[in-house]
Amino acid sequence: MQIDVYDWENSVGFSQSMEELIGRIAAFNIKETSHEETAKCFAVIARTELARRLRIYGGGGCEKHSGYELCTEPGHCLEFGLLKINISDRVTKAVEDTGNLIITFDGKPIKPYYHYRCGGATENSENVVGNRITYLRKVFCQYCDGVDDKDKDKFFSLEELERLLNVKIERPKDVYYDIKGIFQNLDIDDQGRIKSLNIGGKFFKGTEIMERLGLNSTRFNYMPVRFLINCIGSGHGLGLCITGAEEMARRGMDYKEILYYYYTGIKLEEMKLTEKNKPLKGKIIVLDGASGEGDSYEGKGIGGLREGEVNLNIVLELENLLKEVGAEVYLTRSGQEHLNLSERAEIANEVKPDFFISLCQSIFPNQSASGTEAYHYREDKEAMKLGNIILDEVCKELNCRNRGLRTADFYMLKEVKCSTLQLNLLYITNPEDEKKLANPEMRKKAAEAIARGVIRYYGI
Ligand SMILES: [Zn+2]
Ligand SMILES: [Zn+2]
Repeated sequence: MQIDVYDWENSVGFSQSMEELIGRIAAFNIKETSHEETAKCFAVIARTELARRLRIYGGGGCEKHSGYELCTEPGHCLEFGLLKINISDRVTKAVEDTGNLIITFDGKPIKPYYHYRCGGATENSENVVGNRITYLRKVFCQYCDGVDDKDKDKFFSLEELERLLNVKIERPKDVYYDIKGIFQNLDIDDQGRIKSLNIGGKFFKGTEIMERLGLNSTRFNYMPVRFLINCIGSGHGLGLCITGAEEMARRGMDYKEILYYYYTGIKLEEMKLTEKNKPLKGKIIVLDGASGEGDSYEGKGIGGLREGEVNLNIVLELENLLKEVGAEVYLTRSGQEHLNLSERAEIANEVKPDFFISLCQSIFPNQSASGTEAYHYREDKEAMKLGNIILDEVCKELNCRNRGLRTADFYMLKEVKCSTLQLNLLYITNPEDEKKLANPEMRKKAAEAIARGVIRYYGI
């Protein structure tokens, strides 16, 4: 499936496959050296985040850039800079290996919080985001112990604290402090001179301190102006502890165990379209993948590619995609069988579909002819509408020439008693087109583009 993303930096929209997007989000959150099970955790986390957002799964899309599912604007849908992230083989494999799994609670995708290191225990959600989220409970994590955080200590001067927190801190005036364990037992005379004190438990005379610290006078005071803030762990502590997950993986636990450990009471389920998001529910569609074995010719490319095989492949993929969005789908052939035109038309007329889509390739003596075209019967307005949309989607996706929509008197167009479209996907007699048709990835893309066209046609 292709996702429409708005590239905020360059102010352009583009589409990216679901798998690639999951890969980028996952890669963004882990190190190159992360364990493969950690990579799988993040593939599932990324897929879950997408399932929450994409409209087809019941999400709202990007509220800021209408028409797009996601954007890269800083602080909005996706991490800024995410599009430049490389997807390593490990991540690609993690995306594949986790199938279609997402993390759900009560049947809905969760908001999968994660952080770098919890420091011993994760947090309850109410302590961080203010409300109780059942799957974000405190769990003890002994897995991230002993990992040193860089920059865990930070100094702040009073001035810095004032600036960063936008507060005014009153400076103490001539106040002597007993600071337990540091400055204690001050003996001060009535002139305000320090006669003696204990520092770190050791007795010093005021004059001794003056000499050793190079002070101008024994009349001194001290005040806290610089603080060392010492951090345990890294991040807000909600949900999955990345450092802990990595250690669990190293100890042999798999990504499922890790996710179940950090997210309380969740399930790992297949990402599914919800009923209300099955836009083609109630539609009946017949798909006809031409076998390429007509009475007078055999559909073969110049490189020997068989038209029948290509069409069967695409039609089977398309069948899955359309069923996924709720359509009732019938095929005129689902195997190598060869049916003649009237048999195929009969199948269509029996199920009384809303649409009949026939798929084949163009064959032409001149090898230079290439591209995709579609045919409809006379004033079949619906076929014209669907044809234009599908041509648009397919030609964009396969980067081929759009040869447009044409009327024709073909047998199938005439004899099938519903709106009927014949899509001539590429020229099998053109070397470049044949190469595309032979590529399984391209066939998949073609099926996706056609499915998108059908969904768009029905107004979704
Ligand atoms: Zn957005
Ligand atoms: Zn931890």
